[in-house]
Amino acid sequence: MTKVLIVEDETNIREMVTERLEEEGFAVVSASTFAMGQRLFASEQPDLVILDWRLPDGQGIELLKQWRQSGATTPVVFLSARVELIDKVLGLELGANDYITKPFEMRELIARLRVQERWLAGQFQSGDASNSARLESHGVTLELGSHDVFYHGEQLSLTRKEFSMLHLFLSHPGQVFTRDELLDQVWGYDQYPETRTVDTHVMQLRQKLSNDLIETVRGVGYRWVKNNPNLTNN
Ligand code: CA
Repeated sequence: MTKVLIVEDETNIREMVTERLEEEGFAVVSASTFAMGQRLFASEQPDLVILDWRLPDGQGIELLKQWRQSGATTPVVFLSARVELIDKVLGLELGANDYITKPFEMRELIARLRVQERWLAGQFQSGDASNSARLESHGVTLELGSHDVFYHGEQLSLTRKEFSMLHLFLSHPGQVFTRDELLDQVWGYDQYPETRTVDTHVMQLRQKLSNDLIETVRGVGYRWVKNNPNLTNN
């Protein structure tokens, strides 16, 4: 049974998540403070952690830093009401495995935990799941280790940026990304391409895949058509 530690000071969220995860067959231990999270992480040795950003006695990110510095690779999914991208990026750079912004749907949180759970299972089996993890959606397969991309079984040749963009879309189906967000996440802060570069790359991806898969949300940006992607290991 996968053991999840949730560190969250908002009682209603903590209880709702605990209840739903138990229904899903997870074992759950919960903490409402930084100090308690620190203690339970050491004593309970959870398989996965759901970590709130802002705790009454400290920042979730500081807990994560401590764990990573001590060599723990336990997958951590951040819960945060803060939507600033820099925070998300920081969280991921410091070793968070995923993040979800409040308010969120339980279904989405569970789907993300399942992804981490499969990653753990793959790691346990092969010793290195990162080489065999893949994302699949609407006939598109992204091999995360080799960076190979297939569309209905046919291998495509993508540039590095096209791959990064596709990776971002497939990781967040249905989520709308503005051009600025795409620039930040795909190109990074150190480069300043023009926003129409994003349009060009979307156009190229549509040509290589299909026009239907990346939707234009008028006045906002782009999104991948919604579905339930599978992250599988082979
Ligand atoms: Ca909080």
